[in-house]
Amino acid sequence: MPDIMSFGKHPDYLGAIDLADCPNHEVTLTIASITEKSVNNGRGESSKESVCAWQEKGWLPMILNVTNKKTLVKLLKTKDTAKMIGKRVTITTEHGKWFGKEGDALRIKPILPPQTVQNAPEIKCEGCGKPIQAASGMTVEQLAAYTKKKYGKALCADCATKAASAAKDGAE
Ligand SMILES: [Zn+2]
Repeated sequence: MPDIMSFGKHPDYLGAIDLADCPNHEVTLTIASITEKSVNNGRGESSKESVCAWQEKGWLPMILNVTNKKTLVKLLKTKDTAKMIGKRVTITTEHGKWFGKEGDALRIKPILPPQTVQNAPEIKCEGCGKPIQAASGMTVEQLAAYTKKKYGKALCADCATKAASAAKDGAE
């Protein structure tokens, strides 16, 4: 299939224009699914395309052309799309001339981004001073808020455990 789909703007699918406001025209997203879908090209023809949907809200699914499929296979070291679910990839744009038209095409960046989300704000434990880590099914922020409410200080899981047993000892 030609690159046209990742280059012209299809209203239902991600296009280079959607990355215009992103820093460096790049975005890192988590793969939710990759499925074969019949996609109308806007000129009355439809074709079977691999469509990648994202876990992050607000991002249109992306049609994977051959170039991007190859990059995915290389990066994730598998051809099994089921194994690609949950993986984070960076999408970037490439300026060039495709089929006689100049423009920006979507590209999966050939470098794998960190696979863990690192944008969580660091909150330091008011007990030991170390950054609070997510624990007990709570995010860092939730744990900090919970311990602040319960013990009057934002605490890490270790310090919260100590505070809990200290409170118990004090009560006895
Ligand atoms: Zn602590």
